[in-house]
Amino acid sequence: TMRYPEWIWHNGAIKPWAEATTHVMAHAIHYGSSVFEGLRSYDTPDGPAIFRLTDHNRRLMASARIYEMPMPYSVEQINAACREVLKANALGKAYLRPVAFRGLGGFGLSADTPTDVAVAAWQMGAYLGDGVLEEGIDACVSSWQRFAPNTIPAGAKAGGNYLSGQLVAREARRLGFGEGIALASTGLLSEGAGENLFLVFNGELHTTPVSAALLNGITRNSIITLAKDNGITVVERDIPREYLYLCDELFMCGTAAEITPIRSVDGRQVGAGRAGPMTKRIQELFFGLFSGKTADKYNWLERV
Ligand code: PMP
Repeated sequence: TMRYPEWIWHNGAIKPWAEATTHVMAHAIHYGSSVFEGLRSYDTPDGPAIFRLTDHNRRLMASARIYEMPMPYSVEQINAACREVLKANALGKAYLRPVAFRGLGGFGLSADTPTDVAVAAWQMGAYLGDGVLEEGIDACVSSWQRFAPNTIPAGAKAGGNYLSGQLVAREARRLGFGEGIALASTGLLSEGAGENLFLVFNGELHTTPVSAALLNGITRNSIITLAKDNGITVVERDIPREYLYLCDELFMCGTAAEITPIRSVDGRQVGAGRAGPMTKRIQELFFGLFSGKTADKYNWLERV
């Protein structure tokens, strides 16, 4: 259950939550024609900041572009909306959700409807549960496969993609796991329901490539950058499923999940069965951005 925030940004204005509504015949409700982002803001020593605000909203634009969805606002305007909605709700550490969707104005698949845009923000703790950042989760490989390239583009963060994510996540929870991992249509590892994957072998970080039908995650990119800057070898490569059972450490990452250790897969213990030294090091580097311990070399912290 969630306590709804008071204010929401909708089509250019801040409105009370209850007034930010749409019609049941909006195109997106029927066909999944929405694109969205998930961002987090953190309290830093210099005040609240949104992590990689511009990069997230650029990806929102890219997702809209893939689907030929006209965007009535610029990246700068959506950035401003994100800041505005945090301020209106007096939120410091929060999760932000910009969404753009085909609205009311036609029922054909190729209908040109107006694009509605909203930005919400709310308080959110660890996505996969309390204490998971320390203790890790038990994951499973899903019986549901990730959509193949040239079917639904995984590079767009679109509402419809998350039908797949829901099947993966719900199956995992039903079977008592914390999260599900999907294989790509190639049979090789893809990603979690809403997270990218990293495996550790002999002190090296290995992650699945964008060709494995996955979202080009901004947390994934941040980890790759921080790791390389700190002398850690990063390998982007195709990874067969069995390496989940052989790696020294395994973790998931995403805006919501942040950096969540995986302590077992399919009931098999990973490494020592708890967050290993590399996972802890990456957590330290990543969360250090918000405490000031890690230098913000790339201006990823964008002030509210
Ligand atoms: N994969 C999927 C399917 C996701 O939904 C997410 C969360 N947006 C991620 C990966 C991680 O992406 P990011 O780090 O940009 O949040």
